Amino acid sequence: MVGLVRLDQGAYYLPGPANLGVAAAGRRAVAVDTGLDEDRARRLLRALHEEGLELGAVILTHSHADHMGGAAFLASRTGAPVFCSLEERPFVESPVLEGMSLFGGYPPRNLRNKFLLAPPCRVEGVLGPGPALLAGVEVEVVPLLGHSLGHVGVRCGGVLFSGDVYIGRDVLARHGVPFLVEVDAAAATLEGLLASEAAGCLVPGHGQPGPGWREDARANLDRIREVADRVQRLLERPLTSQEASRELCRAYGVRVEAPGQYYLMLSATKAFLTYLFDQGLIGSSVRDGNLLWHRR
Ligand SMILES: [Zn+2]
Repeated sequence: MVGLVRLDQGAYYLPGPANLGVAAAGRRAVAVDTGLDEDRARRLLRALHEEGLELGAVILTHSHADHMGGAAFLASRTGAPVFCSLEERPFVESPVLEGMSLFGGYPPRNLRNKFLLAPPCRVEGVLGPGPALLAGVEVEVVPLLGHSLGHVGVRCGGVLFSGDVYIGRDVLARHGVPFLVEVDAAAATLEGLLASEAAGCLVPGHGQPGPGWREDARANLDRIREVADRVQRLLERPLTSQEASRELCRAYGVRVEAPGQYYLMLSATKAFLTYLFDQGLIGSSVRDGNLLWHRR
């Protein structure tokens, strides 16, 4: 079984469907994200134990279930306090808001599965940008906006646990369109990281850490710009949000096979529609009871 991988003095990660970060000082450890569920959280506890580490606190990069699903279990099992950003807090404490934001109303039962509805978790405190000392471990909280409302990264020495600020190129190839809520913020975040000499080693939530991160981040930034252009061109003929999403799926060869995936793609498409609308590049009008987007 794969255990913790050491990246730098006091910085480790546990590879998996969602990579989990660990910042340690002496025997005390801060986990960055918890994985999807109790199984994954138990795995993290075992990996910490094998390394002689003890969980002292948890920081969540954001409130998506694959990153926070194990948080409530870890908190109840170990007493470790859980921290996140101000904007993510309501979603961590009331995860049904995640499903509501995707669906646009109270989510039906088939959207209330563990991939979209994590167990609620009490948040001990909110972390702003900058240095933080938790359980005797020094880390730095870095705002990395775009993927969710208050997404953060956590720096430990030369390592930045970067959550879902970008996804690996193999994951990007499968997803086609990166999931974003704020397109301009996501692009600015990636531009900032790419321009930074001191960015260090990035550990993405999904994909391989290491020196290849710049290529991954660049591929995500290129894809964001390309999708924005593509949506604008699609709207030479007026489309509803659903039609625009369907056309994007076709363009990137994404097979939508489940309601959850449908709503994630629709939500990502809407982020691009909002961005283009706010830039004054597209407009919207209501015709025959449908809201249609069109190029200006
Ligand atoms: Zn996410």
